[in-house]
Amino acid sequence: MMRKLLQLVLILCLGLTGVYAVPGRKPYKVMLIDGQNNHRNMFEGSGFMKSILEETGLFKVDIVTTPPKGGDMSTFRPDFSSYDVVLSNYNGESWPEPVNEAFEKFVREGGGFVVVHAADNAFPNWEAYNLMIGIGGWEGRDERSGPYLYFDEGKGEFIYDTTKGKGGSHGMQHEYVVKTREPKHPIMKGLPGEWLHQKDELYDRLRGPARNVKVLATAYSAPETKGSGRHEPILMTIQYGKGRVFHTVMGHENYSQRCVGFIVTLQRGTEWAASGKVTQKVPADFPTKEKGSVR
Ligand code: ZN
Repeated sequence: MMRKLLQLVLILCLGLTGVYAVPGRKPYKVMLIDGQNNHRNMFEGSGFMKSILEETGLFKVDIVTTPPKGGDMSTFRPDFSSYDVVLSNYNGESWPEPVNEAFEKFVREGGGFVVVHAADNAFPNWEAYNLMIGIGGWEGRDERSGPYLYFDEGKGEFIYDTTKGKGGSHGMQHEYVVKTREPKHPIMKGLPGEWLHQKDELYDRLRGPARNVKVLATAYSAPETKGSGRHEPILMTIQYGKGRVFHTVMGHENYSQRCVGFIVTLQRGTEWAASGKVTQKVPADFPTKEKGSVR
């Protein structure tokens, strides 16, 4: 009788402290920015990412669209201050200087930032942006942008290669295996050590300041698919001031984004960017090394 009573009290206490609570907190507010991108599926991608984030019950996503290319960018004045996370699906013309300054302040003071695929092509000359994304590609990037960051399997370490060369390329689209390099990181914890990603571009030779970067996962870019022959960063976190940045290079096409690996790492990475924690369970349909998985 006494034991039963104690159990009941314990369960009540846990319930009050939220340990047993189903997501009861207010959803994290996410501003998803698009409007210009060299990817034809930009708007579909934004809608898809909004839906996969909101289905977790953890996020409320507002899509904020800039003027189109050549439009009046001075009308773009997003208010970052009421958001927990900014997710960029944007690769286009410069934003007005006050917007850049407000965005730098937002991340520096602890805001979360999620960088998806071609968002790491944007703004090659915006210094703070490149510190936030860690590494990026194209738009004139080369050794002056910073080192080429890749993993050397033989040495078991990351190489910061400062030799001359362009920043950013990719071979043929194909399915590739993503390999975890930081299994204890909240975003990676519980995921298989290796898993098969759906057909996608495999970015290689990305360059940038590469400061405060933690590469969570890599993929081997094989010469047979016209790749670099290196293990390239696929998932990263970057610290910028007090802000947490999650950077995924995956997500070129709709079929790439429908990979359960893309979906789950984006959901987990966005929660981590918002809070520094991940409370989501790894779903049963997560891909394995041999078998991909789509939704
Ligand atoms: Zn692409």
